[in-house]
Amino acid sequence: MSEDQPSLDEHLAVGTCERCPALVASRTQIVEGVGPVDADLLFVGEGPGASEDEQGEPFVGRSGDVLDEALRDAGLARADVRITNCVRCRPPDNRDPTAEELTNCRGYLEAEVDRLDPTLVVTLGKVPSEHLLDRSVAITAESGDVEDVRIAGASRRVLLSVHPAATLYDRSQRAGFFETIAMAAELSGLGERSGDGGDGQSRLGEF
Ligand code: URA
Repeated sequence: MSEDQPSLDEHLAVGTCERCPALVASRTQIVEGVGPVDADLLFVGEGPGASEDEQGEPFVGRSGDVLDEALRDAGLARADVRITNCVRCRPPDNRDPTAEELTNCRGYLEAEVDRLDPTLVVTLGKVPSEHLLDRSVAITAESGDVEDVRIAGASRRVLLSVHPAATLYDRSQRAGFFETIAMAAELSGLGERSGDGGDGQSRLGEF
């Protein structure tokens, strides 16, 4: 590849996008997915909130703290996994993204799934679950379920999960959320490396 052509990984970056006028008006910046582009485990959230919009990274607010804690509990480091969202720009007033906004952003998500070729996709909450499964989902009841779903022409193993924020509103959801993330570590094969946090470094601080 010549030097002035973007690399495959640079292709994953949305860069600039003006498809959703309401989101363009409300966003501070586009929030790209983070984590290795060959990660076995891909988490898909709904869309950036206020902290993510400010910092330019998915799941860095209170929901992110819960996700990070559950990952650590499952023996994983945040750096071991990829984390992205259905829409890359913060919807105003924290409303759900509209069907049109989800469609507008779909290509970016599909390109990311295609590039990663992950062993497991985990949908965090109702919006990403319904978006990827293309059906209505009773997320609390279906959390922990695994389905094979066609995404961008390929069959992908998808694990449904409640959104980490659900554990903040309803403490009784916490244990189930942590179990689902532990299941994600196992199903993705990353759990086999548990004990070193998956990177050989992340647990050194315990000693
Ligand atoms: N909630 C989401 O769905 N995504 C984020 O990035 C942060 C909070």
